[in-house]
Amino acid sequence: MAFFDARLLYLIFFLLLLLFGSVESTGNKAAQVCVVGAGIGGSSVSYFLKQLSCSNANVPCLNDILILERRSRIGGRMATVTIAGDTFEAGASIIHPKNLHAVRFASLLGLRPRSKSSDGSWFSVWDGSRFIFETLPPPPSSCLAIYRKIHSLVNALLIFRRYGFSLLRMNRFVNRMLHRFMLFYKEYESRPVFETVEEMLKWTRLYELTRRTLKEELLDAGLSPQLISELVTVITRINYGQNVDISGLAGAVSLAGSDDGLWSVEGGNWLLAAGLINYSNVTLHLQEEVASIAYDEGYYVISSTNGIHYNCNVTVIATPLDEQSISFTPPISIPSRKMQHTFTTFIRGLLNPKYFGLNRVSEIPNLIGTVETPEVPFSSISVLKKYTEDDMTFKIFSREPIDDSLLDQIFSSRKETIRIDWPAYPHYEAPEVFAPIILDGKHLYYINSFENAASTIETSAVAAENVARLIISRLSGMPLNMIKQKTKTTNPDIQHLDL
Ligand SMILES: Cc1cc2nc3c(=O)[nH]c(=O)nc-3n(C[C@H](O)[C@H](O)[C@H](O)COP(=O)(O)OP(=O)(O)OC[C@H]3O[C@@H](n4cnc5c(N)ncnc54)[C@H](O)[C@@H]3O)c2cc1C
Repeated sequence: MAFFDARLLYLIFFLLLLLFGSVESTGNKAAQVCVVGAGIGGSSVSYFLKQLSCSNANVPCLNDILILERRSRIGGRMATVTIAGDTFEAGASIIHPKNLHAVRFASLLGLRPRSKSSDGSWFSVWDGSRFIFETLPPPPSSCLAIYRKIHSLVNALLIFRRYGFSLLRMNRFVNRMLHRFMLFYKEYESRPVFETVEEMLKWTRLYELTRRTLKEELLDAGLSPQLISELVTVITRINYGQNVDISGLAGAVSLAGSDDGLWSVEGGNWLLAAGLINYSNVTLHLQEEVASIAYDEGYYVISSTNGIHYNCNVTVIATPLDEQSISFTPPISIPSRKMQHTFTTFIRGLLNPKYFGLNRVSEIPNLIGTVETPEVPFSSISVLKKYTEDDMTFKIFSREPIDDSLLDQIFSSRKETIRIDWPAYPHYEAPEVFAPIILDGKHLYYINSFENAASTIETSAVAAENVARLIISRLSGMPLNMIKQKTKTTNPDIQHLDL
């Protein structure tokens, strides 16, 4: 009985909301749904809200969506830098071929995928004093296809000789995770709307992977300690700036980031967010930072640092709250979480072979991964582009900033240096604790509670889709059944600046 009362109440609320539009009685600006943040979370929740509500005859259309973004650009942790006229990913750079939301967004928006360059195939593991493992240097670009095949076969054999059948077990571990993750793409009739991250993960049988560390999971899966302390560690340091003590799920997602078929969006992954915002025709206010969110008799008053107030029926937080100073009235309570900072340094110049105990620049591998040791001040160094033999662009990931004197040891020449300090992803700690998705029991939603499971473009989109469905089903009091989505190709007319 109480269930029907609650549903009836929501339905009346929703009908009133549609009848009178959004709340404007206080003279403040207004919107049905306000979204904090224009990254992939904020852009995709807006897209899903519009698609799901406006293409479904059973629920009224949520047309009036406002995104508030504190920066002057769209994309959040998807961003680019330009060096020597070339654009490089500065934040999220790779997308897995099985990331179906990203694949669909790109196709819907007419964005071109770019395959990951194979230059990284000259891969090495550096322990601070020597390269403990190295594949073959790439063959000359003019060589025959058959020679290339033999080259990659020899590389595969080299890796197999060092790590043996443990590699197959690692693949099985990642594939099992991916197989379960694919449940998030099941049709709506057979996929529930989830109120908590724990429910989402339990339904896909991924929850247990968040309870133990990656190392524990991999040892149980039969991987050799050598594979874990070398290759696996290299990958988790590159993808999450952390070691194998991260949770099994974040670790499996990180390992999937070394699969074949990885891609990115031509021109920059941020185009996904920009395209979705444009496609959904939602209102976007750039350079509008949210300072406070106060609940006031049925709506949220959002105040920005520009001194503007918005009355919103529903509010969605699409940014991590961990390093935020947004004040909430009444206060909200979420578990404390540390963000892992990743320092991304771009250098145009030339590596110093002596730093690596080598004689010639041509002996330095294209991708230098590192093991966990205090001797190494960086997580990875990779060549992004080779202009000539002594002029290249590099990307360095590190946990601490790399100062000029250290850069002058690692590089023999530097023409350009760009530094970015990212509050990049959660510092993963098993067993993970998750913040609520519904922060106040009403209509204040938090997409980034899902980041404790894993932090990627796709996981943000998966969490955003669930939040959109949750909002619509809670507002209308109806379970979401078959919802047809419109498809259209468009040329995003977008605003963006390099970092
Ligand atoms: C260096 C790095 C490498 C990565 N590599 C990959 C990768 O290869 N592949 C992958 O899939 N993922 C990768 N990730 C993770 C991925 O970038 C994130 O998981 C994803 O982009 C998060 O998107 P989001 O929209 O949830 O948050 P964000 O992108 O952080 O967006 C939040 C937005 O909210 C805005 N905002 C914050 N506070 C306020 C406020 N008070 N008022 C208004 N606006 C506000 C921010 O400016 C930002 O634009 C990487 C991340 C980093 C940093």
